[in-house]
Amino acid sequence: MTTFPLPPGATIGVLGGGQLGRMLAMAAARLGFDTAILTPEAESPAARVAAHTIVAAYEDPAALQALASLAQVITFEFENVPAAALAELERLGATVAPGTRALAVAQDRLEEKSFLNAAGIATVGFAAVDTEADLRGAFQRFGPPLLLKTRQGGYDGKGQAWAHRATEAPAALAALGHRPAIAETPADFRREVALIAARGRDGEIALYPLTESHHENGILRRTSAPATGTPRLFAEAEKIAATLLVALDYVGVLGVEMFERDDGRLLVNEFAPRVHNTGHWTLDGCEVDQFEQHIRAIAGWPLGPTAATCHVEMTNLLGGEAGGWARLAREPETRLWLYGKREAEAGRKMGHVNRLSPLHRSV
Ligand code: AMP
Repeated sequence: MTTFPLPPGATIGVLGGGQLGRMLAMAAARLGFDTAILTPEAESPAARVAAHTIVAAYEDPAALQALASLAQVITFEFENVPAAALAELERLGATVAPGTRALAVAQDRLEEKSFLNAAGIATVGFAAVDTEADLRGAFQRFGPPLLLKTRQGGYDGKGQAWAHRATEAPAALAALGHRPAIAETPADFRREVALIAARGRDGEIALYPLTESHHENGILRRTSAPATGTPRLFAEAEKIAATLLVALDYVGVLGVEMFERDDGRLLVNEFAPRVHNTGHWTLDGCEVDQFEQHIRAIAGWPLGPTAATCHVEMTNLLGGEAGGWARLAREPETRLWLYGKREAEAGRKMGHVNRLSPLHRSV
């Protein structure tokens, strides 16, 4: 059993080798930790900056054993890691943070929305849809249109289809490959906002300023941070995030994505039990960024201050856009983050830029 706080020199295990794992490894190194990555991907972005890499399937027993013996605490950088892999790590006596419960809830949109509502947090209306009859029932209950989403495995707008009338039910279900789904009512939002939240091993909570998200084709394009808004809006968002951290008995950083409706009410769309793209602005715009904060939390360290030090426009570099690095590197207000990915497929997150400007007053 690990004792906390973890001293510098200890090793942090990460399931997943993408850009989030890479930035976690960089933050861990700053605090004197080594990182061990388990990823099925050869040549992953995280492996290039980590002390140890195990390339294997997440459920490979020998790989999990190797990770458990290398690392004093193990975390994950995306929410589709198999629950069985975490269960096996825990069986081996490893300390995993955030816990298996937060992961299981976040992996299933039906569980997630039910959990949020049970914790007193508002969401859009939703219904489980496994069959055409279920979808027709949802149309009767809510009326059109409805947004169908697969319960599991969807991300960046993948696994979603709008159904505008009941007669479209068969086509909508086919578009999702007949996988178990939920039907959601339209959010009718004027703005999408997000908040990065952290909770330490001793229950300490640290919340970052609210941010404004701009999506294109279901993918986050841009974050404007801190968001403008009223003190009431900020207080409501903070209450939601803190409630969620406590309800999940959470340790680590969590991203909460919300819709702001015209009447100012917030609905939670989803939460991610990990560091999140909407928190990349903190790398250059906050006293302690979300990656260091996550490492601090899971290592049992005190959490760091979360205040914004400047205004940041974070823009994701998708596909070929990272090819503009030479021009971007010449912009004095721009901080460039590149993920070391070799293949620039269309829509793939290859890096991001944080454009800094002086902090202006909110409202
Ligand atoms: P998600 O995969 O749930 O993160 O959804 C991706 C994006 O689709 C969100 O950021 C919204 O822009 C949009 N979206 C998701 N759910 C709804 C909804 N119920 N109503 C309207 N737009 C939605």
